[in-house]
Amino acid sequence: MPTGSADAGALDASAIVGVVGAGTMGSGIAQVAAAAGHPVRLFDMQPGAAERAKARVVAALDIDVSKSRTTREAADALSARLIPVASLEEMKDARLIVEAIIEDLGAKQSLIGQLEALVAADTILASNTSSISITAIAAKAKVPGRVVGMHFFNPVPRMRLVEIVTGLTTGREIAQRLSATATAWGKRPVLARSTPGFIVNRIARPFYSEGLRLLGEQVSDVATLDFLLRAGGGFRMGPFEVMDLVGNDVNYAVTSSIFEAYSFDPRFKPSLKQRELVDAGFLGRKSGRGYYDYEHGTPPATTVARLIDCAHVTPEPLLLRGKLRGAEALAAAGWPITVAADESPYGLWSLESANGTLAMSDGRCATELVTLTGQRNVAVCDWWRESPKAACAVAYAWQCADDVKTTLVAPLKALGAAPVEIADTPGLVVLRTVAMLANEAAEAVHQGVASAADIDLAMRDGVNYPQGPLEWAQGIGLATILGVLAHLHRYYEDDRYRASPLLRHHVWAGRAIKDPAS
Ligand code: NAD
Repeated sequence: MPTGSADAGALDASAIVGVVGAGTMGSGIAQVAAAAGHPVRLFDMQPGAAERAKARVVAALDIDVSKSRTTREAADALSARLIPVASLEEMKDARLIVEAIIEDLGAKQSLIGQLEALVAADTILASNTSSISITAIAAKAKVPGRVVGMHFFNPVPRMRLVEIVTGLTTGREIAQRLSATATAWGKRPVLARSTPGFIVNRIARPFYSEGLRLLGEQVSDVATLDFLLRAGGGFRMGPFEVMDLVGNDVNYAVTSSIFEAYSFDPRFKPSLKQRELVDAGFLGRKSGRGYYDYEHGTPPATTVARLIDCAHVTPEPLLLRGKLRGAEALAAAGWPITVAADESPYGLWSLESANGTLAMSDGRCATELVTLTGQRNVAVCDWWRESPKAACAVAYAWQCADDVKTTLVAPLKALGAAPVEIADTPGLVVLRTVAMLANEAAEAVHQGVASAADIDLAMRDGVNYPQGPLEWAQGIGLATILGVLAHLHRYYEDDRYRASPLLRHHVWAGRAIKDPAS
């Protein structure tokens, strides 16, 4: 098995890089390799496609020059290094070839076979596949040890993350060399074992599936759920906005393929709600309609129906139990507050008044808490990320009297989060989503797919999460996350919410999840 040099450093910038497939991804990969100084050969089976791809790169570089993001000289030099070629034979001197052809196992295996007949024994053969097993792509290779995944994200020149994916037979030094090369190209490589969805596409599943479940159970509407994940969770976009951008057909296909690949594990079960949209041809932005209507371009500014106006509520005495960050803001806003020494039996903290109880959710519904508090006026609130325009989901017990509802949740406004009403559901919106993302991340660490640090990095850099799911869960408290999962599991009696054994062990041991051996 060729393994490259002992230190497995980055390929020298003088090494020729071949890129096969000159579509969306191939042209971006060719641009990035040429920007790093490599002579690049770009091939596509469609005559003229490689030339057109180069023309797109040159046009993008012209814009970069006009916006002073690069110099004319650098752009011209990059362009001179990127050479469209008419046959695979012209790649024979390449030291690394990245394929970005059609997503089809047979086509990729056959291409690897053709390339092996041309290139040197130690040329690295990398695949940009987003869903096919690297082990399977390498299975028919003469030298499977040099076949490796190099999964870029779209648009390649802007997205820093690259997943370096090892199949069962991939040489360790090959992966290390490719990782070092990706770093030299200005990327942030993370290492992943070839398992369905690799890191990002797997860990991100609950972001969509929890949103879809909440929508399917009529907990709230699309615009409100997106708003809460942005303004409460700090995500750049909500799940429905992302699914409309990516395409419901694409998102549904990714979920379905991961579900099947994991032997129909309920954790990855696709949503009937999304299937319905796909069947209707409501694919998102590209079809003019998805969860939102794009008939007139971008969707109309969405209004959040249930934003609660607390402006006229008169502060009343409150009893605080449990740890509430920024509790002093309540007193400053005129709420007379007494702090009890004990923990809250109702949630992570609770504020009790003559009107009822507001509790920070621990995964139980407000209606369930009525049985504990002995009073009917109960509300629960979601976790929220502190920001100037923070918002927070609230849910009332079914028995809660209408005339106390606003008063019950008004302290949240003083704490810096605008309350938004949703129907009563366990774990509300942000807390449930973070718990499920962290659970999936913990499970991936548990199965040796990637390290905790690489998973957190991948989710920040690859999909712009405000925090990696594991560091986020640690900030909230692993025991809290485990508790939320337990309540979700009990409520739904659905294996989708079963907690990762790794999470349990770290809670028992009182340790942070830092790396596979921690
Ligand atoms: P694309 O359709 O834009 O481009 C594919 C190109 O490959 C086409 O120009 C086609 O003519 C060419 N091609 C097909 N078979 C070929 C062959 N046997 N030899 C030479 N050229 C061939 O596709 P894309 O979106 O760039 O995706 C390419 C690969 O990257 C796929 O494996 C895909 O799963 C993966 N990927 C895509 C994205 C994305 O967001 N588009 C992200 C990550 C990974």
